[in-house]
Amino acid sequence: EKAALAELRGKPTLTADGVKVDLYCNIGGPGDVNAALEATAEGVGLFRTEFLFMDRAALPTEEEQFQVYRDVAARLEGREAVIRTLDVGGDKDIPYLGLEKEENPFLGFRAVRYCLERTDVFRAQLRALLRASAFGRVKIMLPLITCVDELRSARALLEELKRELDGEGVPYDRDVKLGVMIETPAAALIADLLAREADFFSIGTNDLIQYTMAVDRGNARVAYLYSPLNPAVLRSIRAVIRSGAEAGIPVGMCGEAAADPLLIPLLLSFGLDEFSVGAASVLATRRRISRWSKADADALAAQALVLSTEAEVRALLKERIMGGL
Ligand code: PEP
Ligand code: MG
Repeated sequence: EKAALAELRGKPTLTADGVKVDLYCNIGGPGDVNAALEATAEGVGLFRTEFLFMDRAALPTEEEQFQVYRDVAARLEGREAVIRTLDVGGDKDIPYLGLEKEENPFLGFRAVRYCLERTDVFRAQLRALLRASAFGRVKIMLPLITCVDELRSARALLEELKRELDGEGVPYDRDVKLGVMIETPAAALIADLLAREADFFSIGTNDLIQYTMAVDRGNARVAYLYSPLNPAVLRSIRAVIRSGAEAGIPVGMCGEAAADPLLIPLLLSFGLDEFSVGAASVLATRRRISRWSKADADALAAQALVLSTEAEVRALLKERIMGGL
């Protein structure tokens, strides 16, 4: 098993019928870049920038952030780095930001909502990201999008900051991509509208499952409902990928589900362009992808999508994938 995985080191990620997909890695900081490269990930599909803001007494400066983002981008040597803007709130508390305690933190003032109001914080991060884009293939990703307005506001600010950097003679990638996470039912339902204005999608299943199923992702009491194989979640994922494809933008997945052996054939059938997984799952995911041809994945997806319950979907996939996990 180990030897079989080792054979896939440094190989491209191909389906059984030779279709190339991108296999990226999730990282939490520059300390994870080595593991990503070691695992022969083809890029970084999610850099959670929260770590830069946590375990300290005050906001990181633009300069500090720039150095970290540049370092990550440069060490990837031409591979893409999808860097997510600050995803604060929910279960991620940062004391010095002075966020008020809320009755429902997962439904509250967090992520892109916070950034669009605290534009001082957002500007510093976006400027740092733009500056880093001169040193590698940086893509900027917005968390917890629920409406087109949020994307437009972020885009307008980004354009304003580009002009500011032009005025200062500071280099950046003029074509830097701005994409959105699809991790709320609202975003999934308007994926066609978002796709007209976003440069790429990345499906955040950790939150998409939570919000679609109305299940706190950390609550063990209701964890039995927390599964990507629920028909509601599968339909949502399929529709999002379809909307992205119709608009001609790439669609990735950076939630845990991207490495789920049972889900992988369905994601291939739906046409997911990019899988972003933890470093420890890169080679296993490459192998799982290599087992499926489009025709086999399509046949399985057709069967799975007419089933009514999570248990039925799971039983079907388990039976078909048994031994091949
Ligand atoms: C997600 O929600 O799927 C995701 C990747 O983001 P996080 O786990 O950081 O909320
Ligand atoms: Mg999330």
